[in-house]
Amino acid sequence: MIAQVSPYWLVKTLPEMNREEWESLCDGCGKCCLQKLEDEDTGDLYYTDIACQYLDHNACSCGVYESRLEKVSSCISLSLSRLEEFSWLPSSCAYRLLLEGKPLPEWHPLITGDKNSVHQSGSSVRNRAICENDVPEDEWEDHIIEGVINL
Ligand code: SF4
Ligand code: SF4
Repeated sequence: MIAQVSPYWLVKTLPEMNREEWESLCDGCGKCCLQKLEDEDTGDLYYTDIACQYLDHNACSCGVYESRLEKVSSCISLSLSRLEEFSWLPSSCAYRLLLEGKPLPEWHPLITGDKNSVHQSGSSVRNRAICENDVPEDEWEDHIIEGVINL
């Protein structure tokens, strides 16, 4: 009889994952590359439909991945040392979900085995965002999204 092996994300905590496992958690949705606005009074964070200029809108990937931290001061590398900051991530993000003890969504590529499932399910920003270069900064507030993209 062959014992069934549980997927690693069900049996390992985030700190227990190796680099490959950690990287595989990213579903490629591109949502974390959307610009966010913070309410100075409450600290509340609002996502907009405006994307970083380096986001590839079709692939939902970074066009300058290796040098992203030098090119964009607000871009961060998700790491164990920043776990306490993960609350700003979209609620569908696997890093945030696992940190909060929640399951991965059924469309997650790790579950479907297909990296396109995030796009096919409408869970990515593919062709749904505007480049930051095309929107004056004083108009960003008009681009706050609530429920438009299932964050
Ligand atoms: S929001 Fe999370 S899952 Fe989506 S691209 Fe960013 S890190 Fe990956
Ligand atoms: S530099 Fe790349 S990873 Fe960082 S926010 Fe822009 S598109 Fe996303």
